[in-house]
Amino acid sequence: MTVVGEILATGDELVHGAMLDTNSKLLAAELEHLGVAVQRFTVTGDAPGPMRAAIAEACQRADVVVATGGLGPTLDDRMRDVVAEIQGGPLWFDEASWQQVQGWLRQRGRPVPDSNRRQAQFPPGAEPIANPVGTAPGFAARIGRARFFALPGPPREVQAMLAASVLPAVRALPGLQPVAQSWLRVLGPSEAALGERIAPFMDPGRNPAVGITASGGLLTVRVVAAAATHAAAAAACEATAAELRPLLGDWLFAEGAVDLPALVLQRLRDRRQTLAVAESCTGGLVAKSLTDVAGSSDVFLGGVVAYSNASKTALLGVPAALVAEHGAVSEPVAAAMALGGRERFGADVAVATTGVAGPGGGTAHKPVGLVCFARADGTGARAWTVRIPDLGRTFVRDRALFEVWRALLGR
Ligand code: AMP
Ligand code: MG
Repeated sequence: MTVVGEILATGDELVHGAMLDTNSKLLAAELEHLGVAVQRFTVTGDAPGPMRAAIAEACQRADVVVATGGLGPTLDDRMRDVVAEIQGGPLWFDEASWQQVQGWLRQRGRPVPDSNRRQAQFPPGAEPIANPVGTAPGFAARIGRARFFALPGPPREVQAMLAASVLPAVRALPGLQPVAQSWLRVLGPSEAALGERIAPFMDPGRNPAVGITASGGLLTVRVVAAAATHAAAAAACEATAAELRPLLGDWLFAEGAVDLPALVLQRLRDRRQTLAVAESCTGGLVAKSLTDVAGSSDVFLGGVVAYSNASKTALLGVPAALVAEHGAVSEPVAAAMALGGRERFGADVAVATTGVAGPGGGTAHKPVGLVCFARADGTGARAWTVRIPDLGRTFVRDRALFEVWRALLGR
């Protein structure tokens, strides 16, 4: 038996394009992790009509529906009113929730406006869900075939209430099958080539299910198994992973929820090597990503963002004549940047980036997306060029970052 889930996000800021719905992503990942088959996301504004329809429909299709938004104190926060309408009864006032709302505000020295009383009102049959990190309580109710959960909009509150109240309740639902996941991380082939290689595993109804996701050039083969017990699910997952590994061969470079900067740091640490970076077009992104990883300081010595030609010369010792002859975006300059960075930081390995991130600055000879890289170590520097598709500045820089990881992993 499958427990079907749907997710509902509400708020004018979402449908007007002012804000990205990140709650649904978070909720779906957590529900899937528990074994809920999430089948649909719906996003509506604050208008009661579409919101009511979305809730009523989702609660006819799914066993679990989690909604976020619309629980604030103002009149455009209509989740509780809309659910009361669906339930066909008046809101009721929960004194205990009201005490909590007041307590939260008073503790922070804030006034307690009367409008906050709305937050202690609940639809018929609803059970309040405490909010440990904000004023708005949520609620749970049975609507149609579904167990329905309403949570406030702020992601921090969603996260806290999900962990404390919603996930434990979902875990107790009848028919929920434990799931296990394996992630095989792949570098090298195109998504299509990978898809062909493992096509026999990708039938829609297969258990364990096998799927491919692509993100920034990195491919992940996800294996998801459902079974009567967690141990059985994990064993089924591993059995499929064991069949996939030989098919992936050299393409497989890591398993699990690794991230690339952490993996790069670990590889260098294993070899007792230190790293420095010399960045132009990535503007510090490489250094930022490395220092996002706690404990990177034993490997990562530092970096230079040398954006202007003069700074490449002053900070990294790139000969001005080299820039004049080949241009700042060139393999000789990338190599000189890497050698200079390695020498100035006293690192074992250094990488350099210099490219045309766009949108301006491209020429016929050096178009937007052209990025030169170099890697320097004790044996000298090796430079190479990648023509990244011009899909915007963020894309070009993210791809350049990915290329750095690939080079540092020796791929
Ligand atoms: P609300 O509970 O509807 O008053 O939402 C409060 C705030 O939470 C909004 O102004 C947004 O900043 C944020 N928020 C609401 N829904 C979402 C969502 N689906 N994803 C990310 N942030 C959200
Ligand atoms: Mg809202």
